[in-house]
Amino acid sequence: MSLRPTVDFLLHDWLHVETLQQRERFADHSRETFDAVLDTCERIAREKYAPFNRLVDTQEPHFDGERVILPQATHDAQKAYAGSGMLSAAQDYEIGGMQLPYTVEAAANAFFAMASVSIGSGMLTTGNANLLMVHGTEMQKQVFALNEFSGRFSGTMCLSEPQAGSSLSDVSTRAVPDGADFADDPLGPRYRLKGNKMWISAGEHELTENIIHLVLAKIPDENGKLVPGTRGISLFIVPKKMVNPAGELTGERNDVALAGLNHKCGWRGTTNTLLNFGEGKYPVGGETGAVGYLVGQAGKGLHCMFHMMNEARIGVGMAATMLGMAGYSASLDYARNRPQGRPMGPAGKDPAQPPVRIIEHADVKRMLLAQKSYCEGALALELYCARLVDEQHTAEAALADDARLLLEVLTPIAKSWPSEWCLEANSLAIQVHGGYGYTRDFPVEQYWRDNRLNMIHEGTHGIQAMDLLGRKVLMEGGKGLSLLAGRITDTTKQAMQVPEFTAHAKALGEALAQVGTATRAAWSTGEPTDALANAVPYLQAFGHTVLAWVWLDVALAAHAAPASNARTGRLAAMRFFFHYELPKTGAWLQVVSSRDQTCADLPEEAF
Ligand SMILES: Cc1cc2nc3c(=O)[nH]c(=O)nc-3n(C[C@H](O)[C@H](O)[C@H](O)COP(=O)(O)OP(=O)(O)OC[C@H]3O[C@@H](n4cnc5c(N)ncnc54)[C@H](O)[C@@H]3O)c2cc1C
Repeated sequence: MSLRPTVDFLLHDWLHVETLQQRERFADHSRETFDAVLDTCERIAREKYAPFNRLVDTQEPHFDGERVILPQATHDAQKAYAGSGMLSAAQDYEIGGMQLPYTVEAAANAFFAMASVSIGSGMLTTGNANLLMVHGTEMQKQVFALNEFSGRFSGTMCLSEPQAGSSLSDVSTRAVPDGADFADDPLGPRYRLKGNKMWISAGEHELTENIIHLVLAKIPDENGKLVPGTRGISLFIVPKKMVNPAGELTGERNDVALAGLNHKCGWRGTTNTLLNFGEGKYPVGGETGAVGYLVGQAGKGLHCMFHMMNEARIGVGMAATMLGMAGYSASLDYARNRPQGRPMGPAGKDPAQPPVRIIEHADVKRMLLAQKSYCEGALALELYCARLVDEQHTAEAALADDARLLLEVLTPIAKSWPSEWCLEANSLAIQVHGGYGYTRDFPVEQYWRDNRLNMIHEGTHGIQAMDLLGRKVLMEGGKGLSLLAGRITDTTKQAMQVPEFTAHAKALGEALAQVGTATRAAWSTGEPTDALANAVPYLQAFGHTVLAWVWLDVALAAHAAPASNARTGRLAAMRFFFHYELPKTGAWLQVVSSRDQTCADLPEEAF
């Protein structure tokens, strides 16, 4: 199974990405330039990533007491990725970028995620540098962001602490002004940071000359106390090695020390670290405290960080999707070749017949079609969201604002839906392999282990669900939800014109109405504890409704295409979603609408 025809269909036949060329920013682009980027990424992923996916799983990063060692293949892959220009693909020509639409960038990065998600393709580095391009000073952009875009430096995001994961208001890393002249540093107001950051991906390695940590920390008030809540959080650039305003390494190490590597269930090609800031292991200028430069305004750190987190959430959704796709591809291949069992005829099974390949059994087809509908549907959703990012940045004001609001509502789904359902796809891929799927001789167990992370990081499932029901569907008077309902209704109206789609259009219309009713019922008492007790079932129902919409819209494009196996497959995947998946929304919304407190009310002692 090749991913490319699906990507091409979604980009061109469905999203009409070439219309973006009408925007001034993308005027130099064409189908040829988009294809060239996809070709390059497909080739690098095939040559430098896919062959080493198992290697990076078995040769975990290790610390030799001084350095963190990663396989040579990881160095080679990342060098090839940086060499392709993808780290700065979306940036302006003047700074060496390609001014590529984000939709095409996201599609191109999908090839790396499918080939080897944990070798990594610079998502954190690009996200870190993009944040600095928006919130940093000119000097911070020059010294830090541009060197990240070139691949000379890499980036991290340091939010979590051992005691502060979901609840970032409990961050306790402290930042105090560094000397009387702290405000005069050309790299930005200079502080000294002390604290521990847990779970930091790519926090230590030798892949690049320097690592640029973006760190959330609190500046104590005049009484030396940390301001409670998120209001007190500021954002700092903390380089692993000190740099001067010309971007050169000064030769001095900053006071950031690796306290340990975390040994993960999957995603083992990327280091994951506990970092100690300012413990005095590497004093700077003879003093303890990691040197950090303030980004943006003090107290507005979380606002700045959200810039990186929203991009990262689409990236996580895409990673989950492509892991699902990798499992689908492997299990499809396996099912086409594995002989086992005989078909059931009117007189039962005939043992005299040779065994058939398992793809001929209806239940195996069910498992394959489920994977196809989850993963190709999720890919369509991620690319749709990526297209909204382009709309937000380049469309005329009113449409750009609509795109912003739609993204607000869709981002929790873009992150969470593939994390749950493409993980389920990986489980089905194991099932298709039978016992072999449960061994490390086949790749599918690794895909599942790698994918299991996605419901946890970048805001857990529970946190995303509360963000959706507690904030996103309510914000700006519910305008985002209304806009989404409008888009869904546009699709159902078109689908009503196609006789074979009318039942699906009605089912989708009903699901949308139920989501609206459940949203109002959840909030009818005005009590967050009532409404949010079943936020995850709400997220699931909302996500399934969105995916049904995406599939129906994709099916309209497929329906308009000439007959082919691909067209038949897409229409079947859409039907699968409507027949086997969409009806689940009723059960999920039931507990939401009735504000069911079965879980919330159970005393701890009764467990
Ligand atoms: C491999 C990996 C890579 C990571 N990379 C990074 C990184 O690069 N940078 C970074 O800063 N962090 C990173 N993280 C951290 C990640 O974002 C956190 O693990 C995550 O936010 C959850 O925090 P926690 O682990 O402390 O769990 P907790 O917050 O303790 O959550 C435990 C459980 O309780 C639930 N829960 C918590 N609070 C609530 C609530 N108020 N209401 C309902 N349910 C709740 C959660 O949903 C979850 O199911 C990474 C984590 C992992 C495992």
